[in-house]
Parts: sequence; C-alpha cells; structure tokens
Amino acid sequence: MHIPMRVLVTGGAGFIGHHLCRRLLSEGHQVTVLDDFSTGLESNLDGLAVEIVRHDVREQFDVVCDQIYHLACPASPAFYQRDGIGTLRTAVQGTLNALELASRRKARILVASTSEVYGDPQVSPQPETYFGNVNTWGPRACYDEGKRAAEALCYEFQSQAMADVRVARIFNTYGPGMRLDDGRVITEFITAALAGGPLRLDAGGEQTRSFCYIDDMVEGLATLMNHHDPLGPVNLGCNEEIKLSDLARLILGVTNSESTVEHHHRRADDPMRRNPDLTVARNALRWTPRVKLAAGVANLVRSLQKSSHP
Ligand code: NAD
Repeated sequence: MHIPMRVLVTGGAGFIGHHLCRRLLSEGHQVTVLDDFSTGLESNLDGLAVEIVRHDVREQFDVVCDQIYHLACPASPAFYQRDGIGTLRTAVQGTLNALELASRRKARILVASTSEVYGDPQVSPQPETYFGNVNTWGPRACYDEGKRAAEALCYEFQSQAMADVRVARIFNTYGPGMRLDDGRVITEFITAALAGGPLRLDAGGEQTRSFCYIDDMVEGLATLMNHHDPLGPVNLGCNEEIKLSDLARLILGVTNSESTVEHHHRRADDPMRRNPDLTVARNALRWTPRVKLAAGVANLVRSLQKSSHP
C-alpha cells in the first residue's frame, strides 16, 4: 500500500526516467516530468498520464512536489561529449537547482549519480568508499567530474540539513526503450548484430562491464528513495561482470548473427573494470538485482525485433 504523492521526475522522458514514471503511476502517484527533450523522447511518455513541463534544468524551476527523482543529464558519451560545457552545467547547476527546489518544497530528493565517479578504477569491485581514479582533463571529464561535483552538492545540502537527499551511483543499465543511436555498447552490439555489420571491440574486448536490467534498476531507485536513512551514496547495478569480448559473443548467439568483430584501439580514459560492490544496497535496502544478463539481453533483442516488425 503506497501513500499517493506528488512526484517530480527530471529527465523523465529518458530511458530510465520513463520506466520509473510507469512504475510511479502504477503505484498511484501523481507524476510530473520536467525535461528539455535533448536526449529523451516525447514518445516515451505516450500513454503515460504524467504532467509534462518542458524546461532546461540549468535554469531555476519550481514544481509542487513531495519527492524529486533528479535524473536530467545526458548519459552516454556520444551525447554528453557533444557539448561538454553544457553537460557540466547540467550536472552541476541543474543539480543545484533541483536541490534548492527540494529545500524550498521540503521534498525528498534522489539524485542520479554514476559509476563514472570511480573513473578507471584501481579497485574492483568498487565500494562506495573508493574515491576513484578520475581524469579531470580528458573527454569524459565533463560528465565524470560534473557528477562528482553534483555529489558534493548533495553532501553539503544533506550535512547542513537543507534537504533530505538520496544519491544513487547507477552502473550500466539496459533494457527496452533505450535509444539505438546513443552509442551505448549493448545497443551498439545488438544493432550491428541484427544488421549483419561488424561489432566494434576496443582494447581486444578485455574491458569488463556489468549490466543491470531496467526493471531491477527502477526497483532499486524506488527502494532507495523510500528508505528512511539517507545512507550516503549507494551503488545500484549488477555484479555479473563480463568482458566486452564475451558480451559480443553472447549477443551474436542471442541474435543468431554471423557478424564479425572489428578491433580498435582503446578509447581515451575508457575504464577497464566496472563492477559494483553491492554490499550497502543488499544489507541496508535488502535490494538485489534479479535479471540475469542472458535473459535481459534476449528480452531487449525481442523488443527491438518487435518494434522493427510491428
Ligand atoms: P537519457 O539520456 O535517456 O535521459 C536523460 C533525460 O534527461 C533525457 O530525457 C533528456 O532529455 C533529459 N535532459 C538532459 N539534459 C537536460 C537538461 N539540461 N534539462 C532538462 N532535461 C534534460 O539517460 P538515462 O540513461 O535515462 O540516464 C538517466 C540518469 O541516470 C542520468 O542522470 C545519468 O547520468 C544516470 N545514469 C544512467 C546510466 C545508464 O546506464 N543508463 C548509468 C549511470 C548513470
């Protein structure tokens, strides 16, 4: 039984946001989406009874609300590198505006941070206590350092009792509803495999990633938001760690594709390891990801095939 609330989701037209909106509506909440539609799609909100506010979070905003999920930010390198200064402003000024709204409205706020705050980690799996290995002077810095500054803002608002803050360090998430053109590895591989084109592998495919299915992520975000204790930053993801060369093999198998693999050099600052330590989420939130990678990928492939052959 959920007490109906007025919930604001910034970035609600994006991949994670629209799945989260669907869940919030199913629990009877009144949902407002604030989005500038720079990387999210208006069509993601088709059929969802949400109020839509078209707005850029870099400019102040005011919405009546009890809870705020602050997700607005470009998330894939292809998009956040298009306008690095704009990305920094979104991550920093946008989060400051969201925290100030939370403070004014006395609304609880959950801020979407990222595993990228760990940079190219020298510790694996990465616990929340690891400070990271991040380059301030490279093509990923606008996003990584923007999110680190956003976390610092959250810390200041929390410690000065100016807002009731939750911080989710989100690891790679995938599932139906992702944009196929945003350059994330899982959709890049599936799209190439279905089209019979080559799958691009950098650094021999030795990098590892761990992918969390969207339903698990939404459950984790809602559980963290509604947890009585702020906890500090919490890793949410999946720790089924896989090399990208093995991911390519898995996708070729699921899609029954005869595509080949094309080898490239490692991209600048591309992390070699990504694997969350989920101890805090497991113990404090009693949350654990349930969907296995092979099942989730098969589901995503099915949804893509269905949408290309309605
Ligand atoms: P997405 O790009 O699909 O969604 C982001 C949404 O924010 C889009 O609807 C976009 O239009 C909106 N937006 C961007 N800049 C804005 C601005 N200045 N003003 C208003 N709206 C703006 O990305 P996503 O995958 O849904 O990611 C959501 C959040 O989760 C982001 O904060 C991202 O950093 C974080 N995250 C995602 C992942 C992942 O694997 N998907 C991993 C780590 C962190």
